[in-house]
Amino acid sequence: AEAAAPVAEAAAPVAETAAPAAETPTVIDVRNPGTGEVVGSVPVVSADEVAAKVRELRLFQPEWEAIGPDGRKEWLLKFQDWLIDNTDTLADVVQSETGKPRVDSLIDPAFATDLVGYYARRAAKFLADDHPSPHSPLARVKKLTTAYKPYPVVGVITPWNFPLAMPALDVFPALAAGAAVILKPSEVTPLSALEMARGWAEIGAPPIFAVVTGAGATGGAVVANADYIQFTGSTATGRKIAVACAERMVPYSLELGGKDPAIVLADADLDRAAHGIAFGGMFNSGQVCISVERVYVEAPVYDEFVAKLTANVKALRQGIDGRESKHDVGALANENQANIVQRHVDEAVAAGARVLTGGKRAGFGTAFEPTVLVDVDHTMSCVTEETFGPTLPVMKVADEAEAVRLANDSIYGLSASVWTGDKERGERVARQLNAGAVNINDVFANLFSFALPMGGWGQSGTGARWGGADGVRKYCRQQAITTPIL
Ligand code: ADP
Repeated sequence: AEAAAPVAEAAAPVAETAAPAAETPTVIDVRNPGTGEVVGSVPVVSADEVAAKVRELRLFQPEWEAIGPDGRKEWLLKFQDWLIDNTDTLADVVQSETGKPRVDSLIDPAFATDLVGYYARRAAKFLADDHPSPHSPLARVKKLTTAYKPYPVVGVITPWNFPLAMPALDVFPALAAGAAVILKPSEVTPLSALEMARGWAEIGAPPIFAVVTGAGATGGAVVANADYIQFTGSTATGRKIAVACAERMVPYSLELGGKDPAIVLADADLDRAAHGIAFGGMFNSGQVCISVERVYVEAPVYDEFVAKLTANVKALRQGIDGRESKHDVGALANENQANIVQRHVDEAVAAGARVLTGGKRAGFGTAFEPTVLVDVDHTMSCVTEETFGPTLPVMKVADEAEAVRLANDSIYGLSASVWTGDKERGERVARQLNAGAVNINDVFANLFSFALPMGGWGQSGTGARWGGADGVRKYCRQQAITTPIL
């Protein structure tokens, strides 16, 4: 927040003389959604400035590529040290622009720290030449090589739910691959990304990482200039970006919305399921692409499960934190988000659903109370649309087959969870689900295992995945080289 203050001062005269509304704003104020307080402001970077920045990155990138994975590892590990040394400051900035409880704000720097270490250490292995098909007859006369060569400039466009962790998921593997990166963070939470840029400069690393702030138009300029686009955000915006990339014939990957189902089978440990699903639905106020957004419960345990779930949700403490962790749930990112959640609840209630707890605004900032809804069905927006808020609609199902059928009745396919006392049964059900990841008796576990591929099916995304070798190779073009042996 401090870093952004000079920008606000410099921009003040512009605001005074500014022409009426139609004029494009030159500065964006950033607010703490828990308090409404302005915590900083950032410039709106123009399309010309973005183009110039990409040209500049392109000049410096070859040297970054030339130092190889081991040279880059040194810089990335230095940056890891910087993240560790600055964890509290970073959590302050995350907290100030998201209105999260302290404990959740610490997840952002912690996740970024672990991830940069993972890619710094493994990139050399993931980018090493492959020599495929030793049994091919051709291999008797030719050495066959697959080499990985980075795209010069990768554009990364990120949303507001994890203002450091979302950028980290792509900025670090792209840098590890040898690409330069231009990052356009969400205009709702740009301050954390600016901290990353500050840190990168502070350790004296090569100028191959830049952050440009602004809204959709600035993002559009990144899409118009970079050589590869990674977008994380809404399905609607992702579709626009795919079209723009197709026109330029530029590759892209999209990590979009979700409507993750949880299936509770009658043989599940109901205490664990209720606790895990309450966490999966309410963590970060439900603003996680892989939040639990729908729950299907086998009839024999439905009443008992609903009682346990409601008790878990009621026990959550909601409020604004300082540096001490006192609360489990904070505010929503902005007013628009609060309106979507309220609409989903109101439409469900109007169609016959019942609110067992929550259902209304929490009385500070944008915050919405953790909510459990029952008597819901697949005609209601709270079940068919992504809510991205603290709501858990629960449905009774006759058996496993009905649970699978309803879980698969969605345009999304990001992740899912299955709760059962029989792990093999859990795996069997997992393989029937249309979801890029399935956690058995857990939530989020796949995302914290960096070695696993993470990516959505259907309207939840397309293109390469996060995690593992693919997570870094996607930022490279493959080159096939044949060399005569004789
Ligand atoms: P949200 O995540 O708020 O639902 P979006 O998916 O639209 O909203 O936003 C995610 C990111 O995409 C943000 O950084 C936003 O500024 C950016 N963005 C929005 N529209 C465009 C666009 N047309 N082209 C490129 N980036 C965009």
